[in-house]
Amino acid sequence: MKKNILIIGGGIGGLVCGAILSIEGYSVRVLEKHKVAGGGLHTFKRNDIEFETGMHLISGFQHNGTLNKLFSYIGIVDKLHIKPADEDGFDHFHVAADGVTYKMARGQDNFVKTLSTYFPEEKENIRDYIKKIYQICENIPIYNLRMPSADIYSNIEVMETSISDLIASYTDNPKLQTVLAWNNAMYGGRKNKTPAYVGALITHFYIEGASRFVGGSQHLADALVQIIEENGGEVLTNTSASFIDIKEQHILKVVAENGKEYMADWYISSIHPSSMFKIVDTCNFKKAYYQRIDNIQNSNSAFITFVTFKPQSFPYQNYSNFYAHDYDDVWNCAEYTSESWPRGCMYLTPPMTYHDTFAKKMIISTIMKFDSVKKWENTTIGKRGPEYENFKTNYENKVLDMMEKIFPDFRSKINTVFSASPLTIRDYYNVKEGAIYGTISDCNNMPVSQIPIRTKIDNFLLTGQNINLHGILGVPLTAILTCGELIGLDKLLKNIKEKNLSLPTFLK
Ligand SMILES: Cc1cc2nc3c(=O)[nH]c(=O)nc-3n(C[C@H](O)[C@H](O)[C@H](O)COP(=O)(O)OP(=O)(O)OC[C@H]3O[C@@H](n4cnc5c(N)ncnc54)[C@H](O)[C@@H]3O)c2cc1C
Repeated sequence: MKKNILIIGGGIGGLVCGAILSIEGYSVRVLEKHKVAGGGLHTFKRNDIEFETGMHLISGFQHNGTLNKLFSYIGIVDKLHIKPADEDGFDHFHVAADGVTYKMARGQDNFVKTLSTYFPEEKENIRDYIKKIYQICENIPIYNLRMPSADIYSNIEVMETSISDLIASYTDNPKLQTVLAWNNAMYGGRKNKTPAYVGALITHFYIEGASRFVGGSQHLADALVQIIEENGGEVLTNTSASFIDIKEQHILKVVAENGKEYMADWYISSIHPSSMFKIVDTCNFKKAYYQRIDNIQNSNSAFITFVTFKPQSFPYQNYSNFYAHDYDDVWNCAEYTSESWPRGCMYLTPPMTYHDTFAKKMIISTIMKFDSVKKWENTTIGKRGPEYENFKTNYENKVLDMMEKIFPDFRSKINTVFSASPLTIRDYYNVKEGAIYGTISDCNNMPVSQIPIRTKIDNFLLTGQNINLHGILGVPLTAILTCGELIGLDKLLKNIKEKNLSLPTFLK
């Protein structure tokens, strides 16, 4: 008889687990609190324009890319609409202090060659650093869909060294050190803290295949839901899990807010562990385990400004932009006062079609700590009061002032502008402190910042961005590991690798 699986949370973590398990013969049910599944893949409409909530920069779909292999196995690559970012500059990093824009080019050699034009005397160091990044990634088994070593600390060097120290071991040039960490704001990298393997994975991942979803990321979520349903499973939206009933180290059932009860053989939580602990009786977990996990540091949150443009007023850019006032801001973007905020931003014009010439929208992401909105922490969406609305307008204006420095007359091109704060992110995802990337790893104390997939509850597994690594890369890789606990990881990896590869529409 088919084993039943109940998954709490229908973001990419829950949906990829659901798709894999339904393909492998399990009976899957996903509970999602929102009216539409997707979590960070979800898109919403304003003024007839679709906006992404949490998946702007993607990669891995190029031929032989890790995600290309995973989603070929799931059988949905053909349904994905993906546009590669510019070959000669998928990311532009602009430092206002000396007015230089550094272009990050796709492909190992191209990246080294392009960056060396700004630092000719550092060419060898750049080449050696990137070579090291590639070596580190080659040695991360799951990234290459190989069986991980039984000893997870066998790669201790890249776990206990920070990405900032690794960079500094290749170059003394302080400008180059920050330029090589240009994407910190995007993935939440922290000086002396973020492990080298995290920085290496993300850098390698984007150099190899930086791209974007065309028309928003919701279609990936929809395709995953369809696979689950085609295999006899179901995704129940508007269904928030409100209690996990545990007896003698075994889950008996999950109760939803609407009073319905769901029973299964196995349960998987893909939500933030602190949110999960709010719906269990925590005395079912050892105090040390519960307190350690509940107290793991979270990533920063963000203030996101969404802009729609007047027709044909702003060119479409097939790259993402990272902007810093000065080099130091790359590492210190979360250290600000209300006067010095924002210390930089990431902005992009997501493609609406494959052949956009003008942009209809822009998303501007600025790092913001939860502390900045803490005084409204007991309010809910739409009911936060006029003081909060003024705060948002004030901070939107700070963002637009910064954009005016980059593009004089920026405001004159805008049709509408609105924003989301760390509170929006907290309440939308049900994630502590609105942490955009969930919990963070600290190379100074790896065992403490790692959350194992297995729990002491005998039929309960964890998945999602808080386990291992966030984002379009980290979450699906963890989903493979989580499903591997049930299917057998070696069998699952073999099944994934045996499937014929297909390519997304635009890459054919
Ligand atoms: C503003 C922003 C920008 C980002 N940009 C990028 C990017 O460009 N590239 C990238 O790779 N990553 C990006 N990320 C990170 C990425 O979105 C996440 O790592 C990823 O979506 C997390 O997936 P998940 O499934 O672990 O969690 P989520 O997507 O948060 O999914 C969890 C789901 O569980 C649901 N849920 C919560 N509680 C309950 C409950 N009690 N019962 C039922 N359902 C529940 C939520 O509604 C949600 O749908 C960004 C994140 C944010 C916030």
